[in-house]
Amino acid sequence: MRLLGRGRLPEPRLMIVQGYWRCERCRSLYGGIKGKGPTRAFWGTPNAQTRCRHEWAAIDRDAFLREASDRFGKNWDDDLPFFRDAQRQT
Ligand SMILES: [Zn+2]
Repeated sequence: MRLLGRGRLPEPRLMIVQGYWRCERCRSLYGGIKGKGPTRAFWGTPNAQTRCRHEWAAIDRDAFLREASDRFGKNWDDDLPFFRDAQRQT
């Protein structure tokens, strides 16, 4: 498994990169075009955004979309085409 940094967000702060990640500690999800947008975050616990010392691991886009729906009740049909259309390709 490829760990992509510890901290608030995956990858170095100023890097623009499309990717999808899961925190192996709090199970938060983070994905999109980091550094530019759009991005979406799903925090695994109420205080995870600020309290967890995240350990981000890369996951694929399909897993990100599916987990956000299954675990957080995310409806991608209501989101931007960037996410909505990605979901429809799966
Ligand atoms: Zn975390």
